[in-house]
Parts: sequence; structure tokens; C-alpha cells
Amino acid sequence: MPGVSSLPVAVSAVRFSGVSIDTWCNLAYLVASVLFILGLKGLGHPKRAVRGNWLGALGMALAIGVTLWKLYTYNRMPLFWAVLVGMGVGSLVGWLLAVRVKMTGMPQMVALLNGFGGLASVLVAGADVATSLQPSLQGNIAVALSGLIGAVTFTGSVLAYAKLEEYKFLKKLAALPGKQVFNVVCGAVAIALSVWLVVESQTRDHPEQYDYIYTILCVVSAVLGVGLVLPIGGADMPVVIALLNSYSGLAAAATGFVIDNDVLIIAGALVGASGIILTQIMCKAMNRSLMNVLLGLMDSGGSAADADSVYAGKIKSTTADEIAMICDGARRVVIVPGYGLAVAQAQHAVRELTSVLEARGTEVLFAIHPVAGRMPGHMNVLLAEAEIPYDKLKEMDEINPQFAETDVAIVIGANDVVNPVARIDPKSPIAGMPILDVDKARTVIMVKRSLSPGFAGIPNPLFAADNCLMYFADGKQAVLDIVTAIKSG
Ligand code: NDP
Repeated sequence: MPGVSSLPVAVSAVRFSGVSIDTWCNLAYLVASVLFILGLKGLGHPKRAVRGNWLGALGMALAIGVTLWKLYTYNRMPLFWAVLVGMGVGSLVGWLLAVRVKMTGMPQMVALLNGFGGLASVLVAGADVATSLQPSLQGNIAVALSGLIGAVTFTGSVLAYAKLEEYKFLKKLAALPGKQVFNVVCGAVAIALSVWLVVESQTRDHPEQYDYIYTILCVVSAVLGVGLVLPIGGADMPVVIALLNSYSGLAAAATGFVIDNDVLIIAGALVGASGIILTQIMCKAMNRSLMNVLLGLMDSGGSAADADSVYAGKIKSTTADEIAMICDGARRVVIVPGYGLAVAQAQHAVRELTSVLEARGTEVLFAIHPVAGRMPGHMNVLLAEAEIPYDKLKEMDEINPQFAETDVAIVIGANDVVNPVARIDPKSPIAGMPILDVDKARTVIMVKRSLSPGFAGIPNPLFAADNCLMYFADGKQAVLDIVTAIKSG
């Protein structure tokens, strides 16, 4: 399938205002690319994020609009309508998903969107393979990369979605032996098939084999995607999701070379590069090696102490009135938000608690763990929505040394990110992950509904610590009750 910018010479002479359509389109693609870059820059800071998002969307609208205009001008009506109808259906589904999905379901949605990006690359390169042979070596390498990376991204992302949905059967599958050998074999076969595809396309001895090799390459790569993500869990999931995001960009960039579309190459490269930067940030934050992630050598571990032995006879529960008394006279309170705060939608109640405490002369800070909330930046977005000033939000490195001088740490719906097991049990799924040192505060209040574990599925010995009190309630109701108790105290 020739790309829209590689139309036959006879039609590429169509002009608009004396300038060829191709030149106009390339100019518009350049503007769209600049908008993508400005959009990404804007997303780097919460205050500019909304504007950044709009700039990115504007760039995408421009790129799509120009592509449609080009197809229309060159009278390629079947393709024009195919793109328009596909876009209409895709936009409708996307809009419905975006409107319906809860904020806590965003990680799953992001995983699916990464996967669809990978699948699109597989299909577009596949359509190219089915209709013609790429003339250049570069084009054929791009076909192989689109199939390989696209298929890994698709199945890996679908599996990541299922893991985020916490399907129980996946834990049993993840415990199967020999996963790493399987991945190495699968990876080697996928690379060999890619090389074969490129060599075959250059020699052109058996062009009829080209389709088959591409199909087998995609199937093996799809199996590899499952093999790479299956063993991963606990503290490693955020890293893998960032990596799959990067893969979806790389696959799109490769497909851009296949159909000779500059804006797809640039947009894919931007997603690929920003995804790999996010992966590196996540690796650093989670104390993971990027090489282990790339090679799928991470394992979610296995050992987890039995909950009864950790908690039996050691849990102390508390009430809103008691918490109000503990906070009375506290000089510094640090609030630790987690996934449960998002589930409870407690951000506005937390804002009220902050105001009430500050009115009594207490300093209130927020401790933000990089993976709290099962999505990068989730806690920042929620707290910003409640208009909690951004300078109160402290990252892990900044807040951890301050816990020793903190009177009360109130942990709302966070669990794994404050679990001290990460420091002591090398076999746990969160082993080595830096945590928020809330256990060093004078008193720790854990607000959650039960003793259930967090995403990593392991007990948390902090609940049984001498300085920890459990307040069993829904996050929002609990905070509202604490506010009422402080006001009436
Ligand atoms: P966790 O998943 O560890 O814990 C959340 C806690 O919230 C649960 O223990 C639950 O306990 C509690 N909770 C749920 N609903 C409510 C409610 N309505 N009111 C009060 N509490 C509630 O969350 P963390 O934020 O601490 O950790 C995030 C985890 O997600 C990490 O393991 C991280 O690796 C993983 N992850 C992160 C990603 C990222 O990109 N940031 C991506 C994928 C995974 P209970 O049911 O008893 O109320």
C-alpha cells in the first residue's frame, strides 16, 4: 500500500495557490510535529498540562485533516472514505470510553490504547506486505520492526490490562517454570524471522513467501509479548506499562517508514522517546534495572508472609475522635494518598482536612510516591483537582528525611507504597522498591476499609507496628468524620 506522500508523479503535480499539494502537506506535518513537541513540553508541568494536551490534540487534528485533504484532492475516494469512516468509528468508541472510564480505570485504558497502537502498526505493515514489496532495504527493515514490536506491544498490553484488572488465574500462569528460557527462545526466533523477511525481500527469489514469513513473525512476536509480561507484577507493573507505551511509539515510527509518512515517523519517535524516558524514571524510582525490563527478566517473586502471622493480636483500631485528639497540637501532619483515595474520591474531603488543620497552626504536607495510585501522576492530578497548592506536594526523596520530625502521618488508601517489606524481604514482589518512610513518624494512621492487601497482594507489617493505628472506613467518609471531630473538639 503506497503512502499518501508517495503518490505517482503524474498526480503529485496537483497544486494549490501555485504550490504543490505535497509541499503544503509537508508544511502542515511540520507544524503538527512542532505542536506535538510543544504539547509534550506542556505536559511536563501540572500548570501547563491542560494547554499541552490541547496543543497535542490540535497537532493531531491538523495531521489527520491534511491527510484527508490530500486524499480528496488526489481523488483517492475509496481511501478517503475508508479513513473517514474508520476515524468516525474510532472517535466514537474513544469518546465513549473516555467519558465512561473512571479515573481509577485509567491505567487499564492506557494499557489498551498502547495495545491498539501496536495492533494498528501490525495491520498497516501487513496491508503493505499483502499488496507490494517495499522497494528499499530500509522499507523492509521497517516492515519487520512494525510486525515484531507491534505484535509484542499488542499482546503485552492486553495482558497488562488483564493484570491491572487483577484476574486471579494470571497468578497461577505467572508461577509456571521456564519462563525466561521460553522468552529467550521466542526472542531469538522472532529476530531470525525478521532477518529472513528482510533477506527474502532483497533477493526476491520467492516473493510469495513474504506474506507467510510476516504472518509467522507476528504470531511469534505476539507469543513473546505474553511471555515478557506474564511474570511481571507488584512494583514492576508501572515500569512495564511505560515500556509498552514506548514500544507502541517505536512501532508507529517504523510503520511511518513503511508508508513513507513523515508525521507518523515523528509522532512515533516522540512517543517512543518519551516512553523510554518515563521507563527510565520509573526504573530509578522503583530501583529496577532497565536491562532486566527490556529482556523480560523481572519476576514478581513469590514469598509473602501469611497475613494471620503478621497481624494476629497486633492490630489497633481507632476512631475519628481519637484521631482528632492526636492531631490536636501536632506541628506537622503528612498526608499520604494512594489508590484507595482515588477509589473513594476523597480529594475534596482531604482539602477540607488540610484547611481545618492549617487553621489550627499545623503544617500539612503531602507525600507523593512515584507509583502511588496505579498510574504515574494520578495523585498529583487528584489533589490538583481539589485545588491543593502544588508546593505542598513533596516527592519521595524530599519528604522521606522529614518523617522523623512528623507528628502524624495519615495514610489514605495507600498500601504497597508504605509497605516496609520492600526493605527487608528480597523475595517479595516489591523487594527493593523505595517506599515512603511513614513508619518513622511519631504516629501513623492508616485509613482503609479492611486488612486487604494492595496491588502487590502481600500483607503489610506496618499495620501491626506499635506506632500504627488503623481507621477502618471508606476513605472519603473517614476524612469527613475526622474533619467533623476536629471542628467539634
Ligand atoms: P495499593 O494498590 O497498594 O493499595 C490501595 C489500598 O487502597 C488497598 O489496600 C485498599 O484497601 C485501599 N482502598 C481501596 N478502596 C478504598 C476506599 N474506598 N477507601 C479507603 N481505602 C481504599 O495502592 P498504592 O497507591 O499504595 O500502590 C500502587 C500500586 O499499584 C503499587 O503496587 C504499584 O506498583 C502498582 N501499579 C502502579 C502503576 C503506576 O503506573 N503508578 C501501574 C500499575 C501498578 P481496602 O480494600 O482494605 O480498603
